[in-house]
Amino acid sequence: MAESIRVRFAPSPTGKVHIGNIRAAIFNWLYARHVGGQFLLRVEDTDLERSTPEAIQALLDCMKWLRLDWDGEILYQTSQRAHHLEVAEELLRRGLAYRENKGGAGECVIFRMPKEGVIEYDDLVKGRMRKKAKDTQDFVIVRSDGSPVFHLANVLDDITQGVTHIIRGDDHVENTFKHIQLFKALGAPIPRYAHLPMIVNNQGKPYSKRDGSAFVGEFRELGFLPDALFNYLALLGWAPGDDREVMTREEMVAAFDFAKCKASPARFDLRKLTWMNGEYVARQPRADFEAAFDARLAAAGLPAEPLGGHRAELLAEIQPRTKTYGDVPDNCRWFFAEDYPFDEKAVAKRLRGEGVPALLDEVAAAAEALPDFTVAALEAAVRGLAEAKGVGLGALVHPIRVAVSGRAEGPGLFETLWLLGRERTLRRLRGTAAKLREGAL
Ligand code: GLU
Repeated sequence: MAESIRVRFAPSPTGKVHIGNIRAAIFNWLYARHVGGQFLLRVEDTDLERSTPEAIQALLDCMKWLRLDWDGEILYQTSQRAHHLEVAEELLRRGLAYRENKGGAGECVIFRMPKEGVIEYDDLVKGRMRKKAKDTQDFVIVRSDGSPVFHLANVLDDITQGVTHIIRGDDHVENTFKHIQLFKALGAPIPRYAHLPMIVNNQGKPYSKRDGSAFVGEFRELGFLPDALFNYLALLGWAPGDDREVMTREEMVAAFDFAKCKASPARFDLRKLTWMNGEYVARQPRADFEAAFDARLAAAGLPAEPLGGHRAELLAEIQPRTKTYGDVPDNCRWFFAEDYPFDEKAVAKRLRGEGVPALLDEVAAAAEALPDFTVAALEAAVRGLAEAKGVGLGALVHPIRVAVSGRAEGPGLFETLWLLGRERTLRRLRGTAAKLREGAL
């Protein structure tokens, strides 16, 4: 019965939310919404030192930013502590656990694992999983200081909360064999498990902060859109089975299926995420783009109004070329500030050639002579110049672009010049030519 499916995201807040963790939340959410079940949020706050109010708030902010709405109240693990300890006592009474002094202040409670046979289960992603009982060991469920251990708290909460499916990272596979025994000992139905493949770097090693941005907050700061990050992370270990990649939430919910989840490691590819983000930015309503764009300009100390005016036309050029909002200031600074930096590579490749200063002066003269400073007139003039010189259009377009913007890429060149306006274009072409002659570039 679909209605009775209950899943949970059970993070242990530490302050920053790793993409691997939030990917687990996304898969839980997609599955719950797909089957019309319940998606619970359980904060595993047993580690009191790390689970500070700030860490919990950071987690909730992240959930909200990604629109991962949960059902019901937030469940806090520490609120169940008395229950966890009662059950440990019960396991002791029934001889399923024993006390032992492991060198701490007091005695620990240790759960007995079977000594023979196999523990097995069907993983929705990994298939049949098994482990010989003799390869497992008894484990601590209550520490010598009287605090319940993760395994006990996690399993008991899943029982109390009626969790039917446990969807989490495959770093928990080993724990699952322990947990299954706890479920059995407590006479509770064993939930279905889906262990999601590890997220790896280019070398196939677990993706960590050493490989680049690894926390949700970092992607937010870099100017990724939550829907794009959600979409990309949903595809780390799952694919709809056709060619679709950019998908709406509704499409993802409709298509989600464990049968299409992969067990092999999922490679984190920043280039692909960046591409996907660009797709989302391009599809945003202009007003949304504008608000985010303006915030980035302001944060970079740039004015809202472009030097050459034509703000609406400029935004129309910039939006489809924006990959992440973090790139906004650098990608269009020259439209807003007279002083713009020159990209060294672009200068070396496009401006240091012989005859470039003279060429820029010629272009300036041609632009100055135009009766109307329009995109079409500029294009005709530059084309005419290229023909007269017997060179390809690129021989002019690239140096002009670098001269007026300092960069190798940007909106269409003729649109760029028009947006800058005639005076500024002439000044920049001649100014760059002069700097090149002086060896100042
Ligand atoms: N708090 C655990 C974690 O964040 C929970 C794992 C689970 O989903 O059972 O890894």
